Amino acid sequence: MFHSRITRRCLASFLLATLTALTITGLLLLQYFHAYTMQKEQDALMLNAQIIEQTLAAQGLSRSNERTGLLQQLSDNTGLRITILNMDGTVLMDTSEPAAKLDNHFQRQEVQQALAHEYGTAIRYSDTLGENRMYVAIPVYQDGQLVRIIRTSNSLAAAEASYQTLRQALIAAILLSAVIAFVLAVWLAKRQVAPLQRLRQDAAIIAHGDYGHRINWRSGDEFDQLIQTINLLTGNLSRRIAEASAEAAKLALVLEQMDNAVMLIDSRGQIIEANRQAQELFQLKDQPLKRHSIHLLGSAGLSETAQRVSRTQCPETITYQRGSGQSAPASHTFTIFLTPFPGQDTAQILTVFHDISLLQEINERQAEFISNAAHELSTPLTALSGFAETLATQNVQQPELTHHFAQVIYEQAQRMNRLIQDLLQLARLETLSHSQELSLTPVSVQPAIRSVLAQLSPCFQEKKQTVLFPSAKDTAPNDLQIAAVPGLFRQIIRNLLENANKYTPAGGKIHIFLEASPQGITIRIADNGIGIAPEHLPRIFDRFYRIDKARARSTGGNGIGLSLVHYLTELFHGSIQAESTLGQGTTFTLHFPPFNPQA
Ligand code: ADP
Repeated sequence: MFHSRITRRCLASFLLATLTALTITGLLLLQYFHAYTMQKEQDALMLNAQIIEQTLAAQGLSRSNERTGLLQQLSDNTGLRITILNMDGTVLMDTSEPAAKLDNHFQRQEVQQALAHEYGTAIRYSDTLGENRMYVAIPVYQDGQLVRIIRTSNSLAAAEASYQTLRQALIAAILLSAVIAFVLAVWLAKRQVAPLQRLRQDAAIIAHGDYGHRINWRSGDEFDQLIQTINLLTGNLSRRIAEASAEAAKLALVLEQMDNAVMLIDSRGQIIEANRQAQELFQLKDQPLKRHSIHLLGSAGLSETAQRVSRTQCPETITYQRGSGQSAPASHTFTIFLTPFPGQDTAQILTVFHDISLLQEINERQAEFISNAAHELSTPLTALSGFAETLATQNVQQPELTHHFAQVIYEQAQRMNRLIQDLLQLARLETLSHSQELSLTPVSVQPAIRSVLAQLSPCFQEKKQTVLFPSAKDTAPNDLQIAAVPGLFRQIIRNLLENANKYTPAGGKIHIFLEASPQGITIRIADNGIGIAPEHLPRIFDRFYRIDKARARSTGGNGIGLSLVHYLTELFHGSIQAESTLGQGTTFTLHFPPFNPQA
């Protein structure tokens, strides 16, 4: 019941205030009652003394026995003690004791006061009567001369008894009031504390995370404002938390969906958090985090940089090479951006991994391409300038020689022109495929092949080669279609047939097979030519790659044809494979997805 401090405090304050007020009131009351009683006693004694003075003066009782009789009778009737003193303090008469037995009263307090003022009073214990008494003395003057002093005295026993009674009644009243006050205080304290306890319970529910909870009761006092404020605060808090959760969810989604691996590392180099990409890339799945980056990534540089960034609070970027091994699928190069991240307890470092492997490869390929292109251009250019210089500087007399030189110059110029045309076409195609989606249209396969064959028939005839199309084994229907760009599809077939023509000796055979299946259309171009050694096979689709440069040059090859074929086939969502046996022939297999007119 009194567990609540506020209850105890309320109770103590209330009791203290009540008891203090009651005690002060009681004391004041007692004091007032005492003063009032004493004043009344004094007034009565004074009045009696004055009456005695007047009576004595009026009746002229000069004889002592008459006077004594009257005063004795008065004393008997009223219970007063009456004393008549001479002006020197000797007792002339006393109603309680024989005057002779009494000593001189001149030094008595009331007598001294009466001589100095109009009257004198004193309260003291009377040894004679064994009780507290009040004495009042008044001086009696005759012709301006002090002749005697009349003193009246009365017992204070009755007044003291009523004072005691009153005191006891007051103590009883205070005790009773204290009990009532205690009960009242308990009730009041409980009433005061009850809303607080309800508020505490509601606040505890909210504190445990139920931010939808609202306080619905009202107390009808100042607590209502507090309730409103708490409800408002809870509403704001729940809105803020919802916003923060949404932001966190968004951030988590962005982190999960972004291509970059992101990690949080603490100042000691331990990995605290890693997004999905980081987990996949560094195979952290099913591994406990909170492990050192050196163990997980095998990079001391990252951990050292993280420690440095944590110390200096300045972002840094480092390059990190991840070698291929048994556990790592492939070699990767990253630039890692490290920046201080405000953590809850300790400073954390946000590390963002940018995989620049592809960029590096593109750069390397670009450099290789430029060097190859420059090399390819420089060869005919050297020949051109050499023959042109000879023609210009030497006086060549023989017309056959001049004709031969002009022929070489013409061929080299043609070669350069072809190379430039091929390069331009590649560049055009790349721009086209990057800038917009190619609009693929239905292309009839057989008519396209036939049209290319018609164009190349002089070349085949020149080398007395046989082209078998359609092949006897073909089971495919006559109206096969694929989704492509007609001119570019013909370019694919043309490049492959030109190669078959070039790299198959005179009298050779070239087969063109067609197959249709639910998986798509397969076109096979097989020759029984010189074939390709296995070590060259993986690279024949690279740009400028030629197996025998001298031979290729003599046939006008520049190593671009197959890379163009590969590029175009993929552009039409197809694939190409090459199989070859050295000295026996080569087969190129093109595969295109089935044509779907609705797509
Ligand atoms: P090129 O213009 O030199 O023919 P390609 O890119 O068309 O360039 O071919 C690359 C290389 O692949 C050629 O230099 C050649 O050595 C080889 N090659 C291509 N087709 C055949 C084939 N049908 N038979 C043998 N070798 C071939």
